[in-house]
Amino acid sequence: MKDILPVNGHFVLPELRYEALGTVISKETLSFHHGKHLKAYVDNLNKLLDGSGLEGKPLSEVVKNSEGGLFNNAGQLLNHAMYFEQFSPTPHPMSADFKKTIERDFGSVESFMKEFEQKGATLFGSGWVWLSADNNGKLVITQQKNAENPVTMGLTPLLTFDVWEHAYYLDYQNRRADYLAALWPVVDWTEVESRL
Ligand code: MN
Repeated sequence: MKDILPVNGHFVLPELRYEALGTVISKETLSFHHGKHLKAYVDNLNKLLDGSGLEGKPLSEVVKNSEGGLFNNAGQLLNHAMYFEQFSPTPHPMSADFKKTIERDFGSVESFMKEFEQKGATLFGSGWVWLSADNNGKLVITQQKNAENPVTMGLTPLLTFDVWEHAYYLDYQNRRADYLAALWPVVDWTEVESRL
């Protein structure tokens, strides 16, 4: 997993490399999601980091060693950095090797996508659905509440869909399942696979 390092003791809002994702996620959603929601998590994280004893640590270490407000804001930076980075208006397809691993662990790419969408759609409240690898390289799908990230369970997180309402409400209103199903064509599999 690529970690995020603080710069002069503070975390920086990650750059968003695109303005919109075709008709999948609008410019308006991305502007609020990245420029307002994620920015607030980064600002709060930096305030809470001072005096925590975790200053200067990589983000994954902050996530693994904190609780309460600091954990929530650190987790949300890690989760959102991975979420925004994995999408592209011109995404790379899944490699043949990774497709084989998906088929080994889920039967087919279609059944993997169906299970991933279903777990995202049925997560009650706010949170994230994740694809991760365990220590043996087996792929697993988990539902995580609020700011949780699979790194706290010893897993290697690979792909995530944000199911907080702020991620989709402007474009899809209450139709969370439609938002989840629409995301596949903008997933950059080269980025996802690089996290293994
Ligand atoms: Mn979000």
